[in-house]
Parts: sequence; C-alpha cells; structure tokens
Amino acid sequence: MNFLIKTSLKILTLTLSTLNPIASFADNFVNIYSYRQPALLKPLLDAFTVQTGVNTRILFAKKGLGQRINSEGENSPADVLLTVDIGRLEAAKTQGITQPVYSDIIVANIPPQYRDPDNHWFGVTTRARIIYASKERVQQDSITYEELADPKWKGRICTRSGQHVYSIGLIASMVAHFGETKTTKWLKGVKNNLARKPTGNDRSQVKAIYSGECDIALGNTYYMGKMQTNTKEPEQKKWASSVKLLFPNAKDRGTHVNLSGMVMAKYAPHIENAKKLMEFLSSAKAQHVYGSANYEYPVNPDIAADERTSSWGILKADSLSLSDIAKNRKTASELVDKIGFDNGPLL
Ligand code: FE
Repeated sequence: MNFLIKTSLKILTLTLSTLNPIASFADNFVNIYSYRQPALLKPLLDAFTVQTGVNTRILFAKKGLGQRINSEGENSPADVLLTVDIGRLEAAKTQGITQPVYSDIIVANIPPQYRDPDNHWFGVTTRARIIYASKERVQQDSITYEELADPKWKGRICTRSGQHVYSIGLIASMVAHFGETKTTKWLKGVKNNLARKPTGNDRSQVKAIYSGECDIALGNTYYMGKMQTNTKEPEQKKWASSVKLLFPNAKDRGTHVNLSGMVMAKYAPHIENAKKLMEFLSSAKAQHVYGSANYEYPVNPDIAADERTSSWGILKADSLSLSDIAKNRKTASELVDKIGFDNGPLL
C-alpha cells in the first residue's frame, strides 16, 4: 500500500511539474537580495540547500536594494533582504517593504534586544562600535564613550561623519541612556576633541592613527579583520598593527553594538522558503559562520565568534534594545546638525 501511495504521489508530482514546470521550479527557490558578497554567503547557503532542499538565488549590490524592492512593488522577486545596521533594517520596515515573520525557532534563537518587537527585522550578528587606539601613544587599556568628551583627548580623536548610520546608532544609544540634554553636552565635548573634520570611512581613521594624525578613533570591530587580512592593499596590515582595540564601557553597561540582519520582503513570492531560510540563518551554526565571514559576533552571546574576532578582546555588549536605539535615531541626527559636529573642532 505504501508503495502504491508513493507511486501515486510521484505521478501526481510529475503531473504537476509537467503542467506547470515554472511554478514547480520557482517553488524550490528562495530569492535573496544581499549587501553581503555571494562568495561569503556560499558555504552557508549550500548547507541550507543540503538541509532543506531549497535552492538559493542571490542578487548582490553595494547599495540601493531597499529602494529596488520598493520600486519593484508587488512584482518584486525578493524574498529575503540581508542588510546591515539598525538604520537600514528599521528603514526597510518604515518604507513598508517588509512583512512580519512569526517563528518560534527565530524567537528562541535571537535575543529580544536584537529583533523587532513587531517581528519585521531580525539581527543575525552584531558589530561593536569600539575605539581603535594607538599602541604607541595610548597607555590605557580601558575606556568609556563618556570619556571621549574629556579634554585630555583634545586634538586626538578621529571619526567619520556624525551623520553616517554607524555614528547615528552610537549617538542614539547615548540619547537612550542619558537623554537629549546630556548627550548634546557630550557630543559637543567630543567635537571639541576631534583632531580634524569628520571625514572618510572607519578604516581611514585607523590610517590616520598610523600616520600620527590622531591617537584614538571610533570604528566597527570587523574592520580590524578586514585590515589584518587585506591582500589587495597590504599597507592596511600596517595600519592595523599600529592600533589596539578598546571596548568602551566594558566595566559597566557594555559596548554599543549594531546589527547585521534580515527581513522578509512584503511581497515575497516564496514565503515558506523565505521563513525556512530565516530560521536557518538564526541557528547557532549559521550565526557563527555568518559572523565569521565578516568578523562579527553571533547575536547569541553563548555562541563563540571566530578565532580572529575573539582575539581582539571580550565583547560585553550593551543590553539596550536596537529597537530603542532606532527610536532615538532622528533625535541623534538632529543633534549632529544642531551642534555642527561635521564642521569639526573649534580652532
Ligand atoms: Fe561597514
């Protein structure tokens, strides 16, 4: 009897695929729009295919994927968008290009501070916004964000624009902790300690430490890995070896972290497969592998980061929810403009 059922099922499947080959082919896929390079994702996605039988297709771009999903509207082939920063995850939600995903598996795998309370976005890994400090000119081995406003750092701090999403995340976390008035005072203090006008990206701040232009700089952890292993521009290895990483507020509330995460597209054509992929990416193994690809930390603090990332020190992450940080992003951005942070220090 079993044989008969199996045979009839087989015939039924064959008939369906013959009748509608496109639908059956498409049903076996999940379409991923990703800011992360396909080569970095490949091992993970191959494991997903082996485990679930679902194939993956990736559309990779360096920017504009959210806008693309938006303009494609109901015809968008996107199922899952992989992006970085709470600013971009929250923007996807507010633009209306996401849909909520209800999954006990994801909820069990991802701590609540790293997912949207309405289930529209989920973090997979964290990146910490830390201090790169000159090995030669900075003796101390601990620091706080508050301390960046201390006049002892006058003319010694470098950072990228205050309006960049990474800076806004950090400033929004300060607003969440201390309120607007105190944060304004703090930010003015940091501005007055800058060595130069905010310019360039995170890595160019480390370059400026290497060249002696400043002594400490704000930056995301993973750039240390990208510099240390850079074969295309080997001089970056020298920048990296001129600095040590200080994890701010390690002794009290913890270091500010941001997210690399995922959302399900509002008009995802393969909802079930998209959910399977998101559940897979939330797993312990996937958090580790996804993190390792870019020297990031699994969102679950019980899962170890890769060896290189772990070698920079112990990350004690601020337990503030990224959703609370998102709520203060607008205020943070207004503050940056109000105090003219990007105009640099008073000379
Ligand atoms: Fe980055």
